[in-house]
Amino acid sequence: MAKHDVIVVGLGAVGAAATYHLAKSGARVLGIDRFSPPHKHGSSHGDTRITRAAIGEGVEYSTLALRSHALWREMEALTGQPLFVRNGCLTISGADAVVMHDVDDFFANVETAARRFAIPTRTFDDAAAIRARYPQFAVQSGDKAILDEEAGYLYVERCVDTTLSLAAQAGAQLLRDTQVMAIEPSATGVEVATGDNQRFTADRVLIAAGAWLPGFVAGEIARHFTVTRQVLHWFEIRSNPERFRPNNCPVFIWQLPRSGGVTSSIYGFPLEGDAGNGLKVTHEESGPATDPDNVDRNVDPVNETERTFKTYIEPFFPDLGPRCVRTATCLYTRVPRSRFVIDKDPRSDRITFASACSGHGFKHSAALGEALADELTTGEARHVDLSPFRLARLGDYLRA
Ligand SMILES: Cc1cc2nc3c(=O)[nH]c(=O)nc-3n(C[C@H](O)[C@H](O)[C@H](O)COP(=O)(O)OP(=O)(O)OC[C@H]3O[C@@H](n4cnc5c(N)ncnc54)[C@H](O)[C@@H]3O)c2cc1C
Repeated sequence: MAKHDVIVVGLGAVGAAATYHLAKSGARVLGIDRFSPPHKHGSSHGDTRITRAAIGEGVEYSTLALRSHALWREMEALTGQPLFVRNGCLTISGADAVVMHDVDDFFANVETAARRFAIPTRTFDDAAAIRARYPQFAVQSGDKAILDEEAGYLYVERCVDTTLSLAAQAGAQLLRDTQVMAIEPSATGVEVATGDNQRFTADRVLIAAGAWLPGFVAGEIARHFTVTRQVLHWFEIRSNPERFRPNNCPVFIWQLPRSGGVTSSIYGFPLEGDAGNGLKVTHEESGPATDPDNVDRNVDPVNETERTFKTYIEPFFPDLGPRCVRTATCLYTRVPRSRFVIDKDPRSDRITFASACSGHGFKHSAALGEALADELTTGEARHVDLSPFRLARLGDYLRA
């Protein structure tokens, strides 16, 4: 049985990036996934993901995002694959707005991060100023907005695919459609057993299993994670499709006013291609908890799609209609206050786990993968600071 330096369990956003950087550093790395990424079973599908630089979830995330932007650009240059469209992110908020990602001071954090990291922004102090530039959003009196000009969107499946291709080119061994059943520390390393009765051994193991991560860690860690089913909607554009093109429509996060059944913020993306593709705009579901192996992939046309349109779309997007062009379901794996948790497994220093990042991790995955590879090979991340994401720090960020 050949011994690997590192085995990465899960080749989604985070695992693919770590595998790539491990292989680049010269490590003998084996990456294993139970499906064949990119796929539709986890958290990294649905065409696009927002990326921002001035991060509302906390200023400690901005260095991750900025480093990731540099890495996405580097991968584009290496492969010729377009990965990142930089067309800005507009965050809209106002009086009695819903909370975004379980973070009370989301809008203020965006402003603080922009100042601290000299991220170019434009501010819109009132509804009239927002409407004048973005007539597609029916904002209300008292609303304000900030445009993060370093932000935009990533092609999620293409990013994963490109990263895995680069990993393979750099010498990583990739094992697809192979489920890891057990990860066990031994006297000399870590043993990994798969569903097809293979056994592998490595000096270190990185668990990047996304929504399945809680099943691999001790109960005292798993209790922090909740997996929820999310529904993505693409609604028809009935009028003014040019308002939704990337040059007129940044990606957006809208902390809606708490009325008419609104309980969460919404987010969306500009229109690419034919106007008949519809606009990807959706709201966040907070629960109930779901089992990643038994997710209902059907979207209820009345209780989900029609309700979403009536509550979250019709009052705020005069150009969108009720016809839903497309839907998809996806998994969020949340830690309270949308934190990340990246740490050593208490069972063994040789096992590291990296959480699925609470619904905002894709944008950071390139830098997280690089930092994890650094830590696993040299003991220290070169470009970013992972210390705010250690389990012991979680309490610092939770509400009293
Ligand atoms: C609807 C939705 C919208 C989102 N929007 C954004 C956004 O706009 N911006 C943003 O930055 N982030 C966003 N996110 C969050 C982001 O997509 C996730 O944080 C990120 O994709 C998580 O990556 P991951 O590698 O942890 O998980 P995944 O990409 O799901 O990868 C986990 C992998 O582990 C594999 N695996 C699991 N168990 C095993 C096993 N036993 N053996 C082998 N392999 C296994 C799975 O097959 C999977 O491929 C969104 C998420 C969702 C669901």
